[in-house]
Amino acid sequence: MITKSEALDFLKSNSTNSILEKLEKINAENTSKHVTFSKNAFIPVCNWCRNVCGYCTFRNENFKLLKMDEMKEILTKADTFGCREALFTFGENVDENEKVKEELKKMGYSGILEYLYEISDWCLENTNLLPHTNCGILSYDELKYLREVNASMGLMLENSSARLCRTIAHEKSPGKDPNLRIEMIENAGKLKIPFTTGILIGIGETLEERVNSLFEIKRIHEKYGHIQEVIVQNFRSKPQIPMENYKEPSPIEMFKMIILSKLILEDISIQVPPNLNRETGQLFLMAGIDDWGGVSPLTKDFVNPEAPWPDIEELNIFSKELGFTLKERLPVYEKYITKEWIDKKILEKIKK
Ligand code: SF4
Repeated sequence: MITKSEALDFLKSNSTNSILEKLEKINAENTSKHVTFSKNAFIPVCNWCRNVCGYCTFRNENFKLLKMDEMKEILTKADTFGCREALFTFGENVDENEKVKEELKKMGYSGILEYLYEISDWCLENTNLLPHTNCGILSYDELKYLREVNASMGLMLENSSARLCRTIAHEKSPGKDPNLRIEMIENAGKLKIPFTTGILIGIGETLEERVNSLFEIKRIHEKYGHIQEVIVQNFRSKPQIPMENYKEPSPIEMFKMIILSKLILEDISIQVPPNLNRETGQLFLMAGIDDWGGVSPLTKDFVNPEAPWPDIEELNIFSKELGFTLKERLPVYEKYITKEWIDKKILEKIKK
């Protein structure tokens, strides 16, 4: 067990030996030598969002709300590609936008969550894919409603520091208040929803705030036991975003954050998105990651459209070169496939 101050000292240090020491410990304890991925289809239900984050390229004022038939077509196709996860993503509180609300009303829906419920239910009934929703802040009751049709759900913590709400990253994003995000992650725990969260590295946070964020996730998980994976995601600078000139985290910064995540979060899977870490992802396997996340043979990463997914054979080679076996997983991790953690209907579907 590593303490907060030891973790901070590690991030501040530039000693190669302290990195090697921790790598040795992680690799000595890692006997499983498996790395997982989920074959998914990314469904960008609507790209409007009430937040305006300084690093976002997903949000668009001239939004597109996917039609029911368009989503069904993607899901049907994804099924033929052997995908098992339907990743439904949309901006936070899209119903706040009158035009979105109007479009939904014309289609006969009172709001986006009703629309999402219906397509998720259709997905469960008609395909071999399992829904996983990530759509920003949801209340306890909304999570409870969506639990019936989701195998797992997610929300990035990003960082537990409220200070970032006064910086270019989150000053226009009321939903990035860490108190709201922590409350939602805790509510998911109370409702026994297998959950994915993560931290975003390089959005102006201090080293101490990085450490605090990992310990905050650990605290929540110790209370509820529902966090199945933590994504350690690197900020990418892109043309025309407010943070265009911000420095991306260096490979060593990421390397050290992955080492720390592994040491602090112990039984939680650690994931890095392979499309954002093409050159370095393989090295991160040595640092303790055990999951490549969702990889799609069909749809692009609509949040990072400039970064294509590696294909599965490429990931296989990446993994094998370091003695790891690549294994496919469902959006819900195996240890949560029990009646305590998922809705009966979804459990039956998985067993079938
Ligand atoms: S919350 Fe997500 S979708 Fe909304 S602006 Fe921020 S990064 Fe973009």
